Amino acid sequence: MTTLILWLLVLAFAGAFAAQVATRVRLIAAAPNNFSIENLPFRIKRFVFDVLLQRQTIKERPVAGIAHALVFWGFVAFALYTTVEFLSGLGIVDLTHTRWFEAYRLALAPFATAVFVGIVYLLIRRVFVRPVALGATVSIESIVIALFIATLMVTYLLTFRLAEGTLAGRINWWAHLLVILAFLALIPASKHFHLVLSPITVFLKSPVLGNLPNLDFEKEEVGLETVKDLKSKMVLDAFTCVECGRCQVNCPAWGAGKELNPKAIILQTQDALLAGERDNKLVDVYSEKVLWQCTTCGACENQCPVGIEHLPILIGSRRGLVSNGEAPEYLGAMYNHLERRSNIWGLSYDQRQKFVTSAQLEIFDPRTHDVLVWLGCAGAFEADFQKSLRSMFEILRARGVKFGVLSKEKCNGDPAKRTGNEYMFQELANANIEDLRAAGPKKILTSCPHCVKTIGDDYRRFGYEVEIVHSAVFIEELLREVAPVGSTASGSATASGSATASGSATALAERSGRDTVTYHDPCYLGRYGGKVDEPRNLLERFGATIKEPERNRENPYCCGAGGGLLFADKEEEPGSRISDVRFKQLQATGATTVVTACPFCSIMLKGAHASAGAEGGEMQFVDLMTYVNGRLQKS
Ligand code: SF4
Ligand code: SF4
Repeated sequence: MTTLILWLLVLAFAGAFAAQVATRVRLIAAAPNNFSIENLPFRIKRFVFDVLLQRQTIKERPVAGIAHALVFWGFVAFALYTTVEFLSGLGIVDLTHTRWFEAYRLALAPFATAVFVGIVYLLIRRVFVRPVALGATVSIESIVIALFIATLMVTYLLTFRLAEGTLAGRINWWAHLLVILAFLALIPASKHFHLVLSPITVFLKSPVLGNLPNLDFEKEEVGLETVKDLKSKMVLDAFTCVECGRCQVNCPAWGAGKELNPKAIILQTQDALLAGERDNKLVDVYSEKVLWQCTTCGACENQCPVGIEHLPILIGSRRGLVSNGEAPEYLGAMYNHLERRSNIWGLSYDQRQKFVTSAQLEIFDPRTHDVLVWLGCAGAFEADFQKSLRSMFEILRARGVKFGVLSKEKCNGDPAKRTGNEYMFQELANANIEDLRAAGPKKILTSCPHCVKTIGDDYRRFGYEVEIVHSAVFIEELLREVAPVGSTASGSATASGSATASGSATALAERSGRDTVTYHDPCYLGRYGGKVDEPRNLLERFGATIKEPERNRENPYCCGAGGGLLFADKEEEPGSRISDVRFKQLQATGATTVVTACPFCSIMLKGAHASAGAEGGEMQFVDLMTYVNGRLQKS
């Protein structure tokens, strides 16, 4: 009788589970396939760290992350136990009285205790602490699931106290199995479906942050316009979101009070898919406004613990808008500049030539030059940034590095690509690739992190591969032996690399005194490129004591310029300007010098300082190359 009842219950609950899963699987299968497993070793490594070891979950929120990890590891440990209990209850095979099972059952006791502690902590945090990332309302579903998990652990632990054949023992056994069945039926329609899906999404997440494959115009691809255009990984992502809000609280647009919330983007996608709104326009699902508030900083998908990728949805939707001529007005002006003058400012090409001549730059020749210096739109035309480039040239010349530049250079295409104008991006990229191939450099050096990302990553999709390094990395390596380690300088806020591991400063720095500075990591250098130690090493070796701002290193707060927003009319936007928020964070360090390593960060932060008026106080902005060269000259 018991067996029959259990069979009926299993069929009913498993049926409910299967029906809900089937709906989601059908939606994933109906989407255009973009699953990829390229770079398998990287994916396996990430799976081990982020799924099995829960690195990503623990990284940002250590206490809550460890509590979650305890629950996860407990689930894995209990999988076989649950299976054996069901096989026995269903009369298929009884392994519950074997010696190995008894040993296994005993070994689970510490796991059960850990899961219980973990889930009680998470429940208290959700109900009483209520972090803003988890939303304004307490989710009843989360409470029910937490109570289910706690009940499972308690009923398991009671098996050591209640004899198997007794009434209490039988009630306990039934309670355990019924909770598992109810859990099974509840999971697919809840955020707890991530238990099943997140190992898959983490594995399938692109190894490249902000993965934006080229559109194939021969196949008449135009980007994402309607719900049915969403690709398979995007649909899978929508059902995996655990609603933790890490993307939200790390998003600079949301942080500055704008409407964009990356968590909402994923949940709106999920709602639209489940409502069967296949022909609905994505611009109606998300609203046009939010699509243009993204700086493409990458914080959302970089912080997501379950492998969700927001940028392909956001930029894919921008592509859909641009292909229908629906880009904002300010972008129209920038596109015009790119089309007519091949640079974002719309300046005459003669100005680049004037800089090349006045800085005595040679035209690159692979037979005589070690590296090709890529100037970029800022380097070619922006007076302040040209000072920084001149500093870099002085360092290169002093160290005997032979370098040259291209006779002509177009914008790398980043502003076109990240704003969704794929056609313009491909035109610019192809023209540059042709010139680069003709010049034949083995190594490219640039001071613009956006050029590093675009030429290094995006151009690869056209079959062009070249080593491209940011000046912070190149010059740090070049000057390693220039700065002999001298006497100890205490008070250094960071000790992040080989040259500073001993906590020593250079004799050079000692001679000219130490500065207190704060360093702003550019998103495209720190987060996308992972280059966070090199600029700090340089600063410390050349006499700076760094005061770290909140949001630094691989998770910086954006300056607000990325994704084409350099040109947005920010005065009209809701909330604060992203650059203002970042400026205040830098100001709060107490340092009166901000060191930057990206021309666009520099422009944005100077603008924020200017608009802060008297509240902005004394603050100077120095590019890393200018800082280092200045200290070298001083010595
Ligand atoms: S890329 Fe940055 S700005 Fe855009 S949604 Fe993600 S966190 Fe927000
Ligand atoms: S998208 Fe990722 S980071 Fe954002 S709420 Fe969902 S699970 Fe959390």
